[in-house]
Formats: sequence, C-alpha cells, structure tokens
Amino acid sequence: MLRVPRVLKSTALGLALSGGTLVCAATPTIDCLYAADTANNNPTGCASDPEDVVDIPAVAAAIAAVGVKPSDIQFVGCHDAAFLTVPNLGHSGSRYRIVYPVDGNLPKTTLVAPLTHEIGHVLQLSLYGSREQLLQRYHGSIDRIELGADFIAGIIFRNFQHNDNIREFQNDLRLAGSYDLASANSHGTPEARIAAFRTGFFYDLRGQSLATAHDDFQGELYSIAAAAEHP
Ligand SMILES: [Zn+2]
Repeated sequence: MLRVPRVLKSTALGLALSGGTLVCAATPTIDCLYAADTANNNPTGCASDPEDVVDIPAVAAAIAAVGVKPSDIQFVGCHDAAFLTVPNLGHSGSRYRIVYPVDGNLPKTTLVAPLTHEIGHVLQLSLYGSREQLLQRYHGSIDRIELGADFIAGIIFRNFQHNDNIREFQNDLRLAGSYDLASANSHGTPEARIAAFRTGFFYDLRGQSLATAHDDFQGELYSIAAAAEHP
C-alpha cells in the first residue's frame, strides 16, 4: 500500500490535464488537483497500481510506444479518482505519475483506453518537460494538449496495440467515468475528441516518431479535429 494523498498534494503545481481537472490546469491549486466532473476531491483507498495495469499488454505496448520505461511511470489507483497524469516532482524513481479510478464493477480492460490517453500526456511531458512549458508551447490551449493526447492514443491503438475496434476507445472512455462524453467542457467536445482519436487511428505513421506525428497533428489536423465541435 502506498499512502498517496499527501504525495499527490505535493504535485499541486504539476500537470492536471484529465477529466474535470482540465478546468484547473490554467490555475492549478491543491483543490484543483482533485477536481473532476465525476470524481470527488478526496479519492480514498489509494494504492500503488492495485489493478496491476502496468502488466496489461496493451498498456505495456503504449508505454513502450512513447519511449519510456515501465519504471518511469508510477501508477496509482484510488476510489473515485479522476484519470490524471503529473510529473513526479520531488519523487525519486519514476518520472511520471498516472492516477486512475478503481471500480470493482468494471473489467480492468476498460482502463486501457483512458490510460492510453494518459500515456499520451506522458509523451507530451517527455517532449516539453513540464506542464508550464507544454502550455507555453501551445499558447495556453488545453484543447491542443487534450486532443493531442487523443490523437496519440489513436496512433497507439492501431500501430502498437493492434486494436482494430475503433469504437472501443469511445465506449471505454465513457465507461471509465471521468470522461463525460455527453457534455462539452474545456477539454473539447466528445465529437472533437473522437475526431482527434480517429485522426490518429488512420494516420499514416510511415516510420515517423510519435513526437513528429504529434507536431504534425498540431498543424492543420488539429484544426480539422477541433472543428468537429462545431459541425
Ligand atoms: Zn487528458
């Protein structure tokens, strides 16, 4: 077991990108770190990777795809938590922390899609170093960061997890709870998120690195995906 809440609070200035925490990304505070549309602000029962997600082959494939080692990511599962990726500031060992919700009613395979999105954030953090630099790079646009992670998830689904079930991403994001696909908020509409994922899924990687593909997406492809918000 790992006593997480105190450690999590130490990362209040870290990256808070997922689920409802997006709202807080521009002004991170301790409260904001826990904020989410469907999760409470004080997740309980936190433990070090209670679902052993690091051993799920599709998760391992995603970690390898973004060029980090499994030991670079500390997975933490909590009751009522939102999905969240933060730099593991001041914490020796792993460089990133991914928090995920633990829900005994869902098969843990439903965690794969949202975790792949979070691992997309790990790629972004590995490229730009910190949440602040990431926001600076994208002119403070949370949408660019979020849709960029969905785009990377789409690439990983097809090219690294060899998953042809394109609808699984959408279904599992919804099942996992912290992504409310029925409502639009600051991280983009469901339509834009699915468009970004599909853009990644059908993207012709041609041996390019994910970093190059992510750069490519941030050009015209982003505009097309984001426009799905306003059909
Ligand atoms: Zn996210």
